[in-house]
Amino acid sequence: MARSTYDSIVTSALSEYRFIQQSGRDLRRLGKAARECRKDRRHRFTSYSAFFAIDIDENGIAHTHRNAFGEAVDEENLSKVRECEMCGRLFWAGRDDKECCSVPCQNKRRKKRWKQEYDKGKYQ
Ligand SMILES: [Zn+2]
Repeated sequence: MARSTYDSIVTSALSEYRFIQQSGRDLRRLGKAARECRKDRRHRFTSYSAFFAIDIDENGIAHTHRNAFGEAVDEENLSKVRECEMCGRLFWAGRDDKECCSVPCQNKRRKKRWKQEYDKGKYQ
């Protein structure tokens, strides 16, 4: 493979990887913000760069387009996006009281809570 082709593939893959990383960070922040909005009031967020792609035309004029991340979150209930308390993964909470991503994490959390209460002397 030619060196320039290799460099081009690596550059493209790195760009995609950074986009996915940034989207994950934005999703965590948006999920948290959406849950706070329900308690407080409606907010407008404009600082999430991953929402948009910006093209600059030959006259230097910027044209913004909603990118794949912006399309994916549009009209979704972001208060359902949670970060698992035990493993840190993002998950979709079907129920409002769901705190963990899976049954194994839920069991670990229950045991951790029980141990904390036991150590405080609740069961003695
Ligand atoms: Zn988990």
